[in-house]
Amino acid sequence: MKIYNTLTRQKEEFKPITPGEVKMYVCGPTVYNYFHIGNGRTFIAFDTIRRYLEYRGYKVTFIQNFTDIDDKMINKANEEGCTVKELGDRYISEYYKDADALNIERASTNPRATEYIEEIIDFVNGLVDKGYAYEVNGDVYFSTKKFENYGKLSGQNIEDLQSGARIKVDERKNDPLDFAIWKSQKPGEPAWKSPWGMGRPGWHIECSCMAKKLLGETIDIHAGGADLAFPHHENEVAQSEALTGKQFANYWMHSAFVNVNNQKMSKSLSNFFTAREILEKYDVDVIRFLMLSAHYRQPVNFSMELLDSAKASVERLYNCVSNIENLLDETTVETMTEAEAEFLKSLNKHKEKYIEKMDDDFNTADAITAMFDLAKDINSNLNAESSKEVLNGALSLIRELGAPLGIIQKSTKVSLEDEIEELIRQRQEARKNRDFAMADKIRDDLKARGIVLEDTPQGVRWKKL
Ligand code: AMP
Ligand code: ZN
Repeated sequence: MKIYNTLTRQKEEFKPITPGEVKMYVCGPTVYNYFHIGNGRTFIAFDTIRRYLEYRGYKVTFIQNFTDIDDKMINKANEEGCTVKELGDRYISEYYKDADALNIERASTNPRATEYIEEIIDFVNGLVDKGYAYEVNGDVYFSTKKFENYGKLSGQNIEDLQSGARIKVDERKNDPLDFAIWKSQKPGEPAWKSPWGMGRPGWHIECSCMAKKLLGETIDIHAGGADLAFPHHENEVAQSEALTGKQFANYWMHSAFVNVNNQKMSKSLSNFFTAREILEKYDVDVIRFLMLSAHYRQPVNFSMELLDSAKASVERLYNCVSNIENLLDETTVETMTEAEAEFLKSLNKHKEKYIEKMDDDFNTADAITAMFDLAKDINSNLNAESSKEVLNGALSLIRELGAPLGIIQKSTKVSLEDEIEELIRQRQEARKNRDFAMADKIRDDLKARGIVLEDTPQGVRWKKL
């Protein structure tokens, strides 16, 4: 399997530290708001990569943090008149709602920065002891010049970075490139006791510290959106490697942005859609399909038209599922013939293609093409004479290939229970709107199918006659 490594700027053969296991850390959201569909792309991309690694037999430990203390958190808590802790609790629970709805698997652990303050202080102390960090009036800065390889991840040399005009000059720092790893308390801010007085961690330090604590000094994969490569990940590399003397992450992966009119979707530009807004209008399969129809290192230029075309594509794949499910209802043949067994075996060429593409730096775009070829092959070869065995074989193959992408797992058959519940809901709605004719019609139609409704104090119940 090959992975494009930002650190070396090339595709490399993936070799985990422990054979068969992957230690993976993905930078998570700052929990001060609902996440937007751009953030969602990054979460979906690395969720898919994790699922695929699992599909290929790796045991993956997947850590994604919650940044629950920083300027944005403090400002928002002040606006909302709550504590930073309350704000974090609230948006973490909202994060789970949206991430679950996007079919993003839960991480092995979601550490919160504020739950690792002691470890962060130890980390900062270690850097001060080794001479990589210095204190100025309660703030602690990392000394970038002391770390020989500063700039290696983002491919910049320190002189170029220093001459970058955009770095704000701050008199407290020895060098404009130095960054805060501990910040002294300002009035009204939450703070923790430390050897440098009351204060809080800088942003970058939490990921270095929690990755080390939960995964060890060297991890396999560290990932995040492309905007994090510099300075966030560059600073993580510097801190971690300065402290341990070991390589921090063997593979660095960065996903490209969701753009709107070729500008990055972001909260500050107000050009965003929240994930929940989009989930109200589109099925999760459609959203995931859209994000995965481009390779994760290619930008997605977001629009509603693109979502509509993703919807049509997903329908084509579900048509194949529905064809098979309908044939399964019709057929009376159980066991497959030799010719059918041959056909089923021949479908593996699509699976091989899919694996070849996914093994090549998770090329979901081409893997999806292999799924369409599979669907086409199934649709044109199976019919009402096909056996249950071959139909089930074909169905489980298309589901198997959809699973790492988190799509095509649903049935197109509506169960009787679901259908009745839906009709009861429509009847209640009609009654609420005083459309009694409609309400009676729904009840009579159900009765004609042998289903009677009873209005009880606990709500409407139904039973078969
Ligand atoms: P944040 O909450 O802003 O720290 O972002 C959480 C994750 O979403 C990070 O990995 C970001 O790199 C990523 N991200 C932010 N904006 C976008 C975007 N427009 N497209 C893709 N990923 C993004
Ligand atoms: Zn991070």
